[in-house]
Amino acid sequence: MSADLQFTPLEEIQSVYARVNATFKAGTTRPLSYRRHQLLQLARMLQENITAWEDASLADLGKQRQETTVTELTPIIQGSINAAESLEEWATPEKPKVEAWRSSWNTTIYHVPKGIVLLISPWNYPVILTFLGLIGAIAAGCPTVLKPSECTPHVAALIAELIPRYLDPAAYAVVNGAVDETKTLLDLQWAHIFFTGSTRIGRIVATAAAKHVTPVTLELGGKSPVIIAPDYDLELAAKRVLYGKVQNVGQLCVSPDYVLVPRSVYKPFLEAIKKTYASFFPVDPLDPEAKWGKIVNEPNYKRVKGLIGETKGEIILGGKWDDNRLRIALTIVAGVKLDDPLMDEEIFGPILPIIEVDDVDAAIQTVSDRPYPLVVYTFTNSKEVEEKVATRTNSGTIVMNDTQMQLAVHEMPFGGHGESGYGGYMGKDSYDIFTHRRGYINVPQEMEPFYAYRYLPYSEESYKVMTQGAHVPIPES
Ligand code: NAD
Repeated sequence: MSADLQFTPLEEIQSVYARVNATFKAGTTRPLSYRRHQLLQLARMLQENITAWEDASLADLGKQRQETTVTELTPIIQGSINAAESLEEWATPEKPKVEAWRSSWNTTIYHVPKGIVLLISPWNYPVILTFLGLIGAIAAGCPTVLKPSECTPHVAALIAELIPRYLDPAAYAVVNGAVDETKTLLDLQWAHIFFTGSTRIGRIVATAAAKHVTPVTLELGGKSPVIIAPDYDLELAAKRVLYGKVQNVGQLCVSPDYVLVPRSVYKPFLEAIKKTYASFFPVDPLDPEAKWGKIVNEPNYKRVKGLIGETKGEIILGGKWDDNRLRIALTIVAGVKLDDPLMDEEIFGPILPIIEVDDVDAAIQTVSDRPYPLVVYTFTNSKEVEEKVATRTNSGTIVMNDTQMQLAVHEMPFGGHGESGYGGYMGKDSYDIFTHRRGYINVPQEMEPFYAYRYLPYSEESYKVMTQGAHVPIPES
């Protein structure tokens, strides 16, 4: 497979924009039957090309076929079908309860498409993180321009090849490229920008959007902690933490970033980690036969390798690499201090620092002293510990006794909070992101006799009648 990705010429971007804009204005994407067809076509586009998607992910990330289909394709196929089947219910206008004096106004909230959408995606899960947002945009009736990551060229090229074959090219377009192409896109006026990527670029996107007062969804990253409470089965905790850490070689936004372990169980937890590591890697992860993915590209490889060189902690497992194949073994670093270079930024690679703390309270304090992460993981069977973590920390999601499985729950919003972003999505929440709830009233002419007091000139009597509402009794608190 060739890794050459054709960038979209900058001068073509304006015509792509004009095309999707014209399609929106023509109302093409509004009928539910159109949206349903496009959603099911999206599902077909994934299902009929499973091997091609797997090949592309393998070429870009060394991602195992099973991981690609389970984590990237299946959720899109099922999510598209679910959206197609739910469309009618989601799009039903709302009839809010109103007070009696306004009951004749036919108060209604219509769900209207916001308009044209720009969707910018990252490289780590390049298929699902492009199409999860697209499901919401199609369902809401919004034409969309996709900007896949240039760091995963095989996937980006496949997206550009398949989208026009399966979806309406007048409404859904792909712009491939890097910084210049994205900047050109960001200069244009969109109805919504949906961005998944780093906090650093998220700030650039939000700043560009502010120029046009464009609403933005920012799905960002951060350091997601794991808290181990002494009451929990340490072997199970170790297994579940490493399960989350090995996904895509740690290049996952909700990867366990660091583990906080109370002193009383610190040593047994390290033993449990060693045992799990041995069972996960019967073959050395750097062995060409091992099913162990690669770091996406040279700059990220150097960054992750650099972190292993800089840490002052003790490397107890891994710490090896293969420069030719951009592989880094899962590396466990014990005895890490809070001022270690591993604790500066999101690791986003196969390194797991383990930090010894006094107790669970100290672990909670450490988490609450830092920016809000995407998720806080906690292992405990104690309701009291769970309650303390829930009330004293903050994050996009809170997950008890496992890692990563929140991604399987499409019935709750997935997203960040604070520096890890804003605007949760999945399922109906995705539809809501791209939908404007447009209020509607129709005030009947026959009601005119009841409105005499609202008109000028005001009088003592009109004052008395019109200001009654300010004097309602306030209930006891
Ligand atoms: P990134 O921010 O570097 O790039 C994301 C996109 O922005 C790419 O399409 C890229 O072309 C574009 N871009 C890069 N530089 C730009 C610039 N100067 N101006 C405008 N656009 C620019 O992110 P990444 O490295 O692709 O992905 C890794 C990050 O994404 C991690 O921080 C990870 O935590 C985060 N992430 C978050 C989620 C989530 O759902 N919250 C999911 C996956 C990844």
